[in-house]
Formats: sequence, C-alpha cells, structure tokens
Amino acid sequence: MAERANVLAALGLNPYSQSPGEEYMSEPMRTHFDKVLTAWSSQVQTELETTGNTYDLLPLTRRIRKSLLMLDHPVTDYGYCPSCGEQIGVRRLEQDPVAELCADCQMLVDMRTP
Ligand SMILES: [Zn+2]
Repeated sequence: MAERANVLAALGLNPYSQSPGEEYMSEPMRTHFDKVLTAWSSQVQTELETTGNTYDLLPLTRRIRKSLLMLDHPVTDYGYCPSCGEQIGVRRLEQDPVAELCADCQMLVDMRTP
C-alpha cells in the first residue's frame, strides 16, 4: 500500500496533548482517536465516491472500520502492538490511525518484505 501523508494533518485536526501522568488510551484519548477515525472515514468515503478508486480505498475503509470497532470496545487492544504488546504510541497513531504494529515491529516486517 502506498505511503500515506500524516492523516491528522490532512484532516486539519490538532494533535492530542497528553496530560502528565495520563494513562495511555484513556477515555479522552480514545475519544480523540474516535474523532480522527470518523473524520478520516467520511473523507475516504467522499474520495471513494468521487474517484471510484475501490482498489485502494475499499481495503482502507475496512481497516478504518475495524479500528473504530476496536476503539468502541475497551476490552480490545486498540493502540497496542499485537506482536510485542507494547504501546503503538499517540504520535504514530495520529500519523496512521490504522497502524497495527509498533514502529519497531513494523520495521522488522518491512525488512523481511523487500
Ligand atoms: Zn511491536
């Protein structure tokens, strides 16, 4: 899949400012990503209708929907890397709200797939 620009910046949304000592994936943080994903989802939907580019956009739509579902269920691990269990991180998620792996694990995958 092609490299995406910073999603948050493209949507014109402000980065989340984490309060000192605030827990990762706290309620306000989840609300923030819910907003980001919802805005992104409608943008992609509009793009889909205008361009008809189903090849690139349909899989993305599905990934956004999956992330939103994970966010809605606090028992699931939105924002955590399934490979190592570490936090994916607020800044990385703002760049790519559907990132599934942390930067380290993603780098290992990228190194394996030329
Ligand atoms: Zn990881």
